[in-house]
Amino acid sequence: MPRTRSAPEQKNLSAPQRNATLEQYLRFPHLLNSFPEPISITDVKGTFFLVNTAWEGLTGYTLKDIQGKNFSLLFSHQDIRKKRPQMLFQKAIEEGKAEEEYWRVRKDGSYFWGVITCCPLYTPKGRLAGFINITRDVTETKRLEAISLENERRVHEILQRIPLAVIMVDKEGVITYVNHYTFHIIGFGEEDLVGKRFLEFLTPVEARRYVARRRTVLKRGKGQDIFAIPVRTKSGEIRKIAWTTVVLHDALGNASGTLSMGEDITRREQLDEQRTAFLSVASHELRTPITTIQLLLDTIEKKYSTLFTKVNELRLLRREVERLNDLITEMLDISRVETGKLSMTFSKVDIDALIQEVIEKMQFMAGKRVIHYTSAKRCLVKGDAKRLEQVLTNLLTNAIKYSPDQSEVFVETKQRQSRIVVFVRDHGIGIPKNKVDHVFDRFYQVTSNGKQGFGLGLYICQQIMKQHHGSISVKSEFGKGSTFSISIPSAASAKKK
Ligand code: ADP
Repeated sequence: MPRTRSAPEQKNLSAPQRNATLEQYLRFPHLLNSFPEPISITDVKGTFFLVNTAWEGLTGYTLKDIQGKNFSLLFSHQDIRKKRPQMLFQKAIEEGKAEEEYWRVRKDGSYFWGVITCCPLYTPKGRLAGFINITRDVTETKRLEAISLENERRVHEILQRIPLAVIMVDKEGVITYVNHYTFHIIGFGEEDLVGKRFLEFLTPVEARRYVARRRTVLKRGKGQDIFAIPVRTKSGEIRKIAWTTVVLHDALGNASGTLSMGEDITRREQLDEQRTAFLSVASHELRTPITTIQLLLDTIEKKYSTLFTKVNELRLLRREVERLNDLITEMLDISRVETGKLSMTFSKVDIDALIQEVIEKMQFMAGKRVIHYTSAKRCLVKGDAKRLEQVLTNLLTNAIKYSPDQSEVFVETKQRQSRIVVFVRDHGIGIPKNKVDHVFDRFYQVTSNGKQGFGLGLYICQQIMKQHHGSISVKSEFGKGSTFSISIPSAASAKKK
């Protein structure tokens, strides 16, 4: 049975101040206690008259403690100085109800954030009799609100400072947020963009691409999408922006829009083009003298064969020239890949015969390493024989280059459904786990421990395999060895395509 502290204990409450209206509550004490909210009743001057058990529980005071005390007891010194209790009552009288939030002080001195709803009480004749106050402890809500506001502020600050254009677009394609940096990149600021459709800033062709892409991203709902798109700036200039887009979700988990972060890659692309043009010109120019040197070497060897057969220097010279030639070929290839001019001449190629040929050629380089070969039955593919030879040579060269003398290299061909897969396995230095995904990147070398190369070979191999509708992959264990594999459609299945 809930307990209400009331009249019998309150002889000390100033009797003249009590009046019939307030005493009505004393007659039905259970009425107040049936409310879970902390309630207090004061007289006109704010002296406590009655409180319920919920109020006692919240504040730590009993009715006995507060007999004759004023409602301001629970206010901080600051709020008392600012006359907040009086202002609350005044407002309640003027507006019929007042609601304010303050820090409130419990009996033990601890604070809680309380929302007080105060209503005036009147006698039947309309005379003000006192006030009824409901106090709610919203400290936890306030704390969570503060955390959420702080998080929001931080996210906002990060988004504003990040050197990327950040744009949020709702489900209908309308921009709802842009950061400052967007202005740096495309010259349009928040006032130009928010409320507009993003595709207004794209060329018609790109707008169609963008719409299709966005639809797919929203449908997928997760992961990120990366694509580069030209955007028209305020000054009319076209800038290439690489956008990384993620889908945003509402509280129910439904896709509510997208957040895109854009990096201006215009300058980088220009530099890339300049570099490719340089590579192309430089490799072409270098090719001519190298070819001449090779021809001269042939002539010298033929002319003075008897004299030079045993001259090691000449052999070394030829090897170095060949290496130089390989590097120039890689440079030329990379410029061809980047300008889309890596042309192929497709015909039926017997992979088995090709591998045997390559292994034979590699024997000289392999030194004391043994190359084992296991072949599948039928290994016909449709491809460019020269380019496939280049891929196999690259894989075998690496297997030899990155494994110790007297180790073994295994080449194996397997027929897998409609594909031919070639494995090149070595027991060499292997590749660390965190680097293995990068070996197909341009100019990537795991270590530059004196092994000559540009880090381009595998990248070019990957491009060649793509043009063959094939693929290249690697499995490696650091310190134990690597297995590179290429997969290519067999001639029969390539015909169907
Ligand atoms: P590079 O001309 O430097 O050999 P590649 O593109 O052929 O260029 O290879 C890229 C990098 O991958 C190499 O620098 C090397 O660090 C690593 N790599 C390639 N093949 C192997 C292998 N069989 N074993 C260990 N590391 C390898």
